Amino acid sequence: HSKRIGGDRIDVYKPAMRARKTDRLTLESDLRRAIERQEITILYQPIVRLEDRAIAGFEALARWDHPKLGRMSPSEFINVAEETGLIVDLGMFVMDQTARQLAVWQRAMRARDPIFASVNVSSRQLLRHDLIHDIRTVLSRSSVARGTLKLELTESLVMENPEHAAQMLARIRELGTGLSLDDFGTGHSSLSYLQRFPFDTIKIDQSFVRTTSRGTRPVILKSIIALAHDLGMEVVAEGAETDSDAVELYQLGCEYAQGFAFGEPMDADAATRLLTEERLEAAS
Ligand code: C2E
Ligand code: MG
Ligand code: MG
Ligand code: MG
Repeated sequence: HSKRIGGDRIDVYKPAMRARKTDRLTLESDLRRAIERQEITILYQPIVRLEDRAIAGFEALARWDHPKLGRMSPSEFINVAEETGLIVDLGMFVMDQTARQLAVWQRAMRARDPIFASVNVSSRQLLRHDLIHDIRTVLSRSSVARGTLKLELTESLVMENPEHAAQMLARIRELGTGLSLDDFGTGHSSLSYLQRFPFDTIKIDQSFVRTTSRGTRPVILKSIIALAHDLGMEVVAEGAETDSDAVELYQLGCEYAQGFAFGEPMDADAATRLLTEERLEAAS
C-alpha cells in the first residue's frame, strides 16, 4: 500500500498539531510571516481526461513549510487562516502563483486545448472580501487563456449565504473564470439550488469514488453524473485511487478524474516534467 501514505503522514504531523493546540497565537503570527516570506508551497495534482488519459489541468493545493515543524497540510492551517482572516492573503497568494505557473505551462505547450488550473476558495474570501478585485488583478498580471483559471468552492460555503453567493459567482464567471463545485455530495444543499449557481464543473467527493465505497457507488455516481450533465456541467471524480476506479468512472460517463491513480500532488517542477513526458510520448 505504498500509495496510501495518508496514514503515515498523520504521525509526521502530530508534533505540529500539538504545537497548534498549545500555541495557537504563535502559529498565527508564524503563518502571517510565512505568507509574507512565501514559505507557502503550492503543489499541483493532475486532473486527467478519462477519454485519453491526458492531463486536462491541475488542482493547486497549499502546503506550509514551517521552519521548525516541517511541512504542514491544509487541515492544519486552513482553519487558523480562516479564523484569523489570513486566508484572504493566503488565497490571493495561491491564486496569483497558480495563474503565473499556468501561464508558463500554456506558453510552453501552445496547445489548441490549453490546460486549466483550479484553486480552492474559502468562505471568508467569498463573503467578506473583494474577491472580484483579486481575480481581476491576478488575471491582468498573467495572461492565462480565458476560462482556464478555475475556482473551487464547496456546497456548504455557497449555502452559507446563497443569495450573496449567487451574485458573486455570476460576477466571477463574467471575468472568464471557471467555477467548480468541490466535494459534491458532502453538503446538505437542496439539489434545486444547483441550478441557481453558474458552476461549469462538479467535483464528486472522494467518499463516493474511492474503492472502499464499492457496492453502493455505481448507482450514486451514475445519478450524480446524469444530474450534472442535465445541468450542462462537466464532472471530475476526486479520489480515483486505482486503474479500475478510472475505468469504471469512464464507463459511467465521467469526463475527468483526479487521484493517486494518476498522480499525487507534486511540486511545479515535477508537474512540468509530467507534462513534458506526456508531450514527448504523444509526439513519438
Ligand atoms: P480538496 O479541495 O477536496 O482537495 C482534494 C484533497 O484530496 C487533497 O488533500 C488531495 O491531496 C487529496 N487527494 C487527492 N487524490 C486523492 C486520492 O486518490 N485519495 C485520497 N485519499 N486523497 C486524495 P489536501 O492537499 O490535504 O487538501 C485538503 C483540503 O484543503 C482541500 O480539499 C481543500 O479544501 C483545502 N485546501 C488546500 N489548499 C487550499 C488553499 O490554497 N486554499 C483553501 N482555501 N483551501 C485549500
Ligand atoms: Mg478542491
Ligand atoms: Mg475536493
Ligand atoms: Mg475534499
